[in-house]
Amino acid sequence: MNNKRIFLSLSQQSGFEQKYIQKALDDNWITSGGPNVDDFEEVLENYLGAESHVTALNSGTSAIHLALVSLGVGIDDEVICQSLTFSASANPILYQTAIPVFVDSEPETWNICPEQLEIAICDRIRKGKKPKAIIAVHLYGNPYKADEIHKIAERYQIPVIEDSAEALGSSYKGKKCGTLGTFSILSFNGNKIITTSGGGALISKSKKAKEKAIFYATQSKDEAVHYQHSEIGYNYRMSNICAGVGLGQMEVLDKNIDSRIKMNHFYKAIFKNVKEIELFQTKGVFFSNYWLSTILIKENKSITPETLRLAFENANIECRPIWKPMHLQPVFSRYPYYGGNVAENLFKRGLCLPSGSHLTEEEKDRIKKVIHNLLNNYKS
Ligand SMILES: *Cc1c(COP(=O)(O)O)cnc(C)c1O
Repeated sequence: MNNKRIFLSLSQQSGFEQKYIQKALDDNWITSGGPNVDDFEEVLENYLGAESHVTALNSGTSAIHLALVSLGVGIDDEVICQSLTFSASANPILYQTAIPVFVDSEPETWNICPEQLEIAICDRIRKGKKPKAIIAVHLYGNPYKADEIHKIAERYQIPVIEDSAEALGSSYKGKKCGTLGTFSILSFNGNKIITTSGGGALISKSKKAKEKAIFYATQSKDEAVHYQHSEIGYNYRMSNICAGVGLGQMEVLDKNIDSRIKMNHFYKAIFKNVKEIELFQTKGVFFSNYWLSTILIKENKSITPETLRLAFENANIECRPIWKPMHLQPVFSRYPYYGGNVAENLFKRGLCLPSGSHLTEEEKDRIKKVIHNLLNNYKS
C-alpha cells in the first residue's frame, strides 16, 4: 500500500493557476502589485460583498501588522488578543512595541470569551489604559461569538481586528467571516483553504482605509517625484505572480470548502459511537468552513491525545495538538492574561486531524484504519 505522508492541510493546484501566471509574464508585470493583484482584490471583494475593500499583501501576518498601524497602535499601547490562536495573531503587536493582553476562550466556539474580554477591558481601564484594539480569531474556521464580542467592543469604543486567516468561507448569521471587523484579515499561506503560495489580505471598511493600507504596504511614499517619506513604510504588497496563483485558486474555493465540510462528516461517522472522543462541530448561527477538523479526548486513563497522535505518526499521517495558547508561550509569558483554563484544557485534550481538501479515498481509508485499530486495542 502507498504510504505517502498525509499532511494536516496541504495546498493543491487547481489547474487554473497557469493561465494567470502566464498572463503576468506576458504583461511583463513580474513585481509586486499589478493587474493580477487588482483582479484578485476584485474577485475577493465580489466574494465578500460590497462593503469590503481588499488590499492584497504578502502575508496574513503583514495584514494584522498593517491593521495595527492603521489603527495608530504604538509604543506601550495595549492590544487585547485571543490567547488560543497561532502566534501570527499576536506577534505584530510586538512589532509595534505595544503590549499584548491575552484573553481566554469559551467552550462553545473555542474563541475569545465575551465575559473575560469585558473583565479584561474594565481592569485595563482601571489600571490606566484603555486597550487600543481587540484581535478576535475564528480558530480552525469556527466563527467566534461575533454579536457578543462586537457589542462589548462598541460599548467601550474599541476597534476589532477580525483574524479570519483560517475562516475564508465561514460565516456568522449569514455574514461572511472577513467582513465582520473594523479591519479583517485573510491568509493565503500554503496550508490555508486557498493559497497564493504565500500571501494575505487586509479588508477595510472604506476606500480611503484601503488606499492608506496600500500606501503603508508600498513603503509610504509621499507624493513627490523624488523618494520622500513622512511615515514608516513596509514592503508588504502581494506579488503579481502570487496573485495569479490566487486567481486560479479562487475558482475552486467553493469546492475546497465543500471538501473540508465533507472531511468533518467523514470524522463524524467514525467517532459517532466513540464516547471518549468528541468531534468539534458548529451549530446554528455559526457556519464553519472546517478548515481543520478537531476533536477533544475525554479525560480517560487509556486513550490520550498523544497515543492517538503517535498512532497516526506511525502510519505516516500528520496530526497536531490544538495550538498552544499564547499566554503559555515562553515569548509571551510576561504579558497580562485574563481567564481560567479553558484554552489550556483545549490544548491538553484536543487534536487537529488531517483535513486537506484533496484527500483520496485510499488516504481516508488509511486514516480510518488507524483510528479503528487504536480504538479496538483499547476495548480489548
Ligand atoms: C496563518 C495564520 C495567520 C498568519 O497568516 P500568514 O499568511 O501565514 O502570515 C494569522 N492568524 C492565524 C489564526 C493563522 O492561522
